[in-house]
Amino acid sequence: MAQADIALIGLAVMGQNLILNMNDHGFVVCAFNRTVSKVDDFLANEAKGTKVIGAHSLEEMVSKLKKPRRIILLVKAGTAVDDFINKLVPLLETGDIIIDGGNSEYRDTTRRCRELRAKGILFVGSGVSGGEEGARYGPSLMPGGAKEAWPHIKTIFQSIAAKVGSGEPCCDWVGDEGAGHFVKMVHNGIEYGDMQLICEAYHLMKDVLGMEHDEMSKVFQEWNKTELDSFLIEITANILKFKDSDGKYLLPKIKDSAGQKGTGKWTAISALEYGVPVTLIGEAVFARCLSSLKDERVQASKLLHGPKTKQFSGNKEAFLEDIRKALYASKIISYAQGFMLLRQAAKEFGWTLNYGGIALMWRGGCIIRSVFLGKIKDAFDRNPELQNLLLDNFFKTAVENCQDSWRRVISTGVQIGIPMPCFTTALSFYDGYRHEILPANLIQAQRDYFGAHTYELLSKPGVFIHTNWTGHG
Ligand code: NAP
Repeated sequence: MAQADIALIGLAVMGQNLILNMNDHGFVVCAFNRTVSKVDDFLANEAKGTKVIGAHSLEEMVSKLKKPRRIILLVKAGTAVDDFINKLVPLLETGDIIIDGGNSEYRDTTRRCRELRAKGILFVGSGVSGGEEGARYGPSLMPGGAKEAWPHIKTIFQSIAAKVGSGEPCCDWVGDEGAGHFVKMVHNGIEYGDMQLICEAYHLMKDVLGMEHDEMSKVFQEWNKTELDSFLIEITANILKFKDSDGKYLLPKIKDSAGQKGTGKWTAISALEYGVPVTLIGEAVFARCLSSLKDERVQASKLLHGPKTKQFSGNKEAFLEDIRKALYASKIISYAQGFMLLRQAAKEFGWTLNYGGIALMWRGGCIIRSVFLGKIKDAFDRNPELQNLLLDNFFKTAVENCQDSWRRVISTGVQIGIPMPCFTTALSFYDGYRHEILPANLIQAQRDYFGAHTYELLSKPGVFIHTNWTGHG
């Protein structure tokens, strides 16, 4: 007898938590997993006393679903998703819905959307952010794909999503085909950027100002009451003051070698592919790569010397405020770049993206949640066609107010020899973007000199000229 509102396949941590979240909101969920014994374990333990039901085969699961059938996959991205789709299709009917909530690559989602549409099945690729905690109590959800599916899943998705402000859900329809997973990928890239920016601020506090962990923690706590109010600043304050069982701070004992799962890299690759200068996320990915060369760095540290000046001679309080402003300005650049990439992807793929809605989806539930995202939403509400965040009056003024501090921090850090890849690339981007004339005229001349690639004169747009630069035949 059909009794379940939705099924979920994949009983690892994300799947289990999402099921319990849906149960809390009154939906009957049917659970299934490749290793079927996990279904019984789940029903007997985590889901005990809930309305969750289980199935021991896909056939049984499908038979228990109300129509149109809604099935969420929360399995390892890649072949596991295709394998389940292939097994499900013969069991489903036209108009049934498969939702992939894993971290799939957006191109796979586009392919699956097209293949399933041809078979009458509606496919949705949804970004799910917020980790285990988010899945359990309110994630940020970014669904895209076959839009006809949205009316059938909207209530469930918006009920279980995180809420902000006066109860607005951090979930809305993103766009066609792989748009949901593309937006999730950019979200993850921005997360890399935010984390690296905080690390650079920490490095400056520690090595330029010589601050202790408790003191740094208090500064981050204070910053969390300013424009920087965000989950990542909040947890940084907590991490800095955390003491190990021996009473010593834990953070300095942790190996300074950062891992990555690849979504930051995918964002940077997409940026290169579509020709969008998303420099900050790129630098954040490279900073992790450099950090992982630990052994090489240990050797180099003995051989390669930095500047002689290692002492900071200015006013500590004033410099701390400068760092805060440098972080804020750099963060604005990072988000401006992220939205540039979304805009270009929309153009490439013919997606209609709701940029303000995307900012709202990230406003709560996910790792990059912040008050700041509300300001981005406001900017797109003021002008949905906004070409670049930096051109919005609020952000233009904010960056202008920060720029003296930003420049002071970077020049001081450079003098003392502190690496600040994201602070510096953000400022270079800002300076590049605001320049009417860049030195690329010389690149064009060089290209024409050695490769006859031609160039265009400012006075004659659209006319391409080749010059014989050497006077030789
Ligand atoms: P996971 O470790 O990525 O995947 C485990 C699940 O996938 C299990 O149900 C497993 O079944 C199934 N699975 C693995 N290989 C399979 C295959 N070849 N065929 C069929 N099933 C297979 O679990 P997770 O961490 O909960 O993540 C689920 C998805 O959400 C992933 O795409 C992940 O990237 C994404 N995600 C995770 C987080 C997070 O914080 N963890 C956050 C957002 C998104 P068995 O039990 O039979 O092995």
